Amino acid sequence: APRKLAAGNWKMNGDLAALEQIDILARDHAAANCDVLICPPALLVHPMAERATGIAVGGQDCHHAASGAHTGDISAEQLRDAGASHVIIGHSERRTDHGETDEMVAAKAVAAHQAGLTTIICVGETEAQRDAGETLDVIASQLAGSVPDCASAKNTVVAYEPIWAIGTGRTPTTDQIAEVHALMRRLMAERFGDGADLSLLYGGSVKPGNAAEIFAIADVDGALVGGASLKASDFGPIVSAL
Ligand code: 13P
Repeated sequence: APRKLAAGNWKMNGDLAALEQIDILARDHAAANCDVLICPPALLVHPMAERATGIAVGGQDCHHAASGAHTGDISAEQLRDAGASHVIIGHSERRTDHGETDEMVAAKAVAAHQAGLTTIICVGETEAQRDAGETLDVIASQLAGSVPDCASAKNTVVAYEPIWAIGTGRTPTTDQIAEVHALMRRLMAERFGDGADLSLLYGGSVKPGNAAEIFAIADVDGALVGGASLKASDFGPIVSAL
């Protein structure tokens, strides 16, 4: 069975003082029956990794090259060196803010795998695409383009994050989530083999109040949580629900 993962994406939030939240999570969820991961801003990866016991730490993006003349960028190797075990790749905010294409996302994922990181590769439709009935086609095409051939259950997690559900307090119905996750499960099995069993996360307005309902959906192996991952008092109950 796929591994269960509760992942937090702090986005561009948090500072050194916020590391206290990690102490609380580590204390309260040492015996969690899933993997717990926090992806803070890059500057906090190292101090968080030094401090977090039993909690994995990840980056939010990496460059596709291992090193070189790329001012302002961070390589997968550097994330790994700083103590990260994971990296989010192709989040919709990266695709929108930085024009990342499926091809760029796949190249970054290859670099991350070469550095020994587990990638969390994100896909998701816009509201207009959902309204136009294009959701399944969009997800299939993003998966085909963004997940590299070197992906396996060991190094890759896929996150379904409908863009219209991110930071909005709106979530798809359980049937809508189940439909996309079933498609992702089938496409990954077709491409990587029946036993591939990649973990499939749902993301978009996951809160303590809806986590249990979302985790009960078939083929949902965990969550990628934004706003509700910033405080241990919100993220803790989500971890416990998984
Ligand atoms: P919210 O949980 O704040 O909706 O963000 C979801 C997300 O984008 C996680 O990567």
